[in-house]
Amino acid sequence: MNVPKEKKLYCKKCNKHTKHKLKEFKPGKGRTLAQGNVRHEKNTNHGYGGRYKYIATVKKQNKTPAFVAECPICKAKVPYSLGKRMKKITQK
Ligand SMILES: [Zn+2]
Repeated sequence: MNVPKEKKLYCKKCNKHTKHKLKEFKPGKGRTLAQGNVRHEKNTNHGYGGRYKYIATVKKQNKTPAFVAECPICKAKVPYSLGKRMKKITQK
């Protein structure tokens, strides 16, 4: 699906609408020794395919992409989502 590179969005800091730049959100690397990560590893090493217990589920085909909108004036970043599942993202 086509997603625009720029979109006019409201900026909280500037208190007005500005042309925000849209970029796809990419999560950073998680800390391996974080408390939640250690607990998750402990609970998922059972042999149920990375789950706490066996659950038969159907995998979804597509993901809902997340975007980061950046204000050109104050450089504030806001999460932005279209709220739709899509197979491919192309920004023009
Ligand atoms: Zn701003």
